[in-house]
Amino acid sequence: MAVINPFELQKPLGGVGKIIAIGAGKGGVGKSTVSVNLAIALEKAGNKVGLLDADIYGPSVPKMLNLSRLRPNMSANKRIQPLTNFGIKTMSMGYLVDDAAAIIWRGPMLFKAMDQFLRDVDWGELDYLLVDLPPGTGDVQLSLAQKVPVAGAIVVSTPQDMALMDVKRCIDMFKKVKTPILGLIENMAGFVCPHCSHESPLFEKGELHDFCKAHGIPILAQIPFKPTLGRAAETGQPELDNLFMEAAQNLSRSLENKKT
Ligand code: ADP
Repeated sequence: MAVINPFELQKPLGGVGKIIAIGAGKGGVGKSTVSVNLAIALEKAGNKVGLLDADIYGPSVPKMLNLSRLRPNMSANKRIQPLTNFGIKTMSMGYLVDDAAAIIWRGPMLFKAMDQFLRDVDWGELDYLLVDLPPGTGDVQLSLAQKVPVAGAIVVSTPQDMALMDVKRCIDMFKKVKTPILGLIENMAGFVCPHCSHESPLFEKGELHDFCKAHGIPILAQIPFKPTLGRAAETGQPELDNLFMEAAQNLSRSLENKKT
């Protein structure tokens, strides 16, 4: 009996350029904050951008983009119309279920949901489709890698060694599913006092940078803890931040380097 390589089932998404997975070893490190702000920065740099919130266990993109409680429409040809704000086309489980509803899907249902998110949504022409993955290493990550060619992955982490083990697991997973690592975004890299602008460490600096250097993983940005970023997420009013513009430039550089 012929053995099927599941990655041979990948099919490109017509009209969609680069699919970028955004992952994290654990929750709460700012993966969705990074996804939203990076999407905004890429759009401001002149790209057409989509953001698929595949963090089905805790979809936060609708709130961060002020799209909560809206429901996507279905076109005559039964394609789901993504919801758009700040120039970003989005799809999220948060548009389909109540805010407080727990999602307890496993395996086949997740694979089906990912199929619909990717293929039944009318993404149109996009330069980038960012995919905000659930934390950890599970069925959604595997499903994405099997269904579509992913240009690469960004890993988000806080700086301390407590997070490094999870980063290693996350990177190992992307390697196993043959997704190139485009870089790491270090979040909550320090705290800038809004009163005196003094920067203090929030977490003990660990070996994250040494690890990245040893494995040739570029650090795309170091984002401090900024109360304005937290407030923007709460109010659904993201602001363009230079650090994310820099991350967007470093991302395209990293994509170029992967080609050569
Ligand atoms: P994750 O997607 O990894 O679970 P979130 O992006 O939802 O994490 O962030 C968790 C919380 O931390 C949110 O309330 C978010 O607004 C806040 N947050 C994340 N990054 C920052 C930052 N750099 N500065 C301030 N608040 C942040």
